[in-house]
Amino acid sequence: MTLSIMIDPGHGGSDPGARGYGLQEKDIVLEIALQTERLLQAYIVSIQLTRRDDVNVLIPTRTARANQMGADLYVSIHVNAGRGTGFESFVHPAASPRTVDIQWRIHREMGLFYASNGFVDRGRKTANFAVLRQTKMPAVLLENLFIDHPRDSAYLKDPLFRSEIAQMLALSIANTLQLPQRQPAWDPALEIERLRQTGLVVNLYHPNDTLLWGQYATVLNRVRNRPVFGSGWDPEREIGLLLEDGLLASPRLPAQPVRWGEFATVLNRLRQRWVEVPGWDPRAEIGLLISDGLLVTSRDPWATISWGEFATVLNRYLNI
Ligand SMILES: [Zn+2]
Repeated sequence: MTLSIMIDPGHGGSDPGARGYGLQEKDIVLEIALQTERLLQAYIVSIQLTRRDDVNVLIPTRTARANQMGADLYVSIHVNAGRGTGFESFVHPAASPRTVDIQWRIHREMGLFYASNGFVDRGRKTANFAVLRQTKMPAVLLENLFIDHPRDSAYLKDPLFRSEIAQMLALSIANTLQLPQRQPAWDPALEIERLRQTGLVVNLYHPNDTLLWGQYATVLNRVRNRPVFGSGWDPEREIGLLLEDGLLASPRLPAQPVRWGEFATVLNRLRQRWVEVPGWDPRAEIGLLISDGLLVTSRDPWATISWGEFATVLNRYLNI
C-alpha cells in the first residue's frame, strides 16, 4: 500500500509568518516544501501540500484536508523567531508513541545536519499547536533556524542551504517511513549510449535491433579484455574466442540472432555463475540473471534479445 504524506508549509498570503533580515518565513518554507515534494518523487509515496502558492490557507482547512486524504504523516515546516538560534521539533503533548518515534527519527537526521553546520540542536519538544492537535495522523512540526538571528538568517538566505534542508528533510522522511525507491523509467536508447561511452560498443544501434552473435561475441570479448588481433572486424574469430575459452559450447554464425536462453548462459559463464542442475536449463540460466538483479522479469528462452535489453542487462552487470 502506498503511504501518503501531507507537507504543510506554514503561513502564506496575508500571513508572512516570522520576518527578519529581509526574509519572510512564508517564502522560505514554501520553497523547502516544494523541493521536498520533488525529491520524494524518487520514492513510492503520495505527496500533497497544504498550499503550493503564496496564499493563506486557514489551519482548520489544512488539517481537514490531511484528515480527509487519510494521510499517514503530516509534516509542518516553519522557521523560528524570538531571539534564539538553531533547530527544534514539536509533537502534540498527547502524541502517540508512534508519533514520538517518528519525531525522534526525523529529528535525529535533521538535528545532525544542522549540528554539522554549527547550529544548536534545541531538542525534541511538545506543544499544543493547532496543526498537531487537529490532525488525526502522526504530525510533526519543524522549526528550521531563527529568521531574526544574524547567522541563522544568513544561512536561510542561501538558496543552496535551503535546498540542503529540503534534501535532508526528504531523506529523513523516506528513511523514517522506509519508503521504497521508485525504479527509474527504463530508457533503452540511453542504456546503449552508456555502453558506447565506455567504448565496449562502437556502432550505433536502435534499441529494437536484434542482437546478433557476431556482435554479442565482440562486446563480451571486449568486456573480458580478450581482443582479436588483426585488421578489421572479424566476427567469426570473435565467436571462435568464446568457443576456445569455453564460454560457448557449439559454433554460431555471426548473423544469427541471439536467444535469451543462450544469452543468459554465456553471460553466466562469463561472470562464473553456475546453474545447479544437470544438463542445460535455459530457464534456470535466465532465473539466475533475475536472482542476481540483472533482469527484472522473466523471458522466453527462445525469444531473441534486442540491443536495448542486452545493453540494460550488461550495464547492470558492469555497474555502468
Ligand atoms: Zn511559523
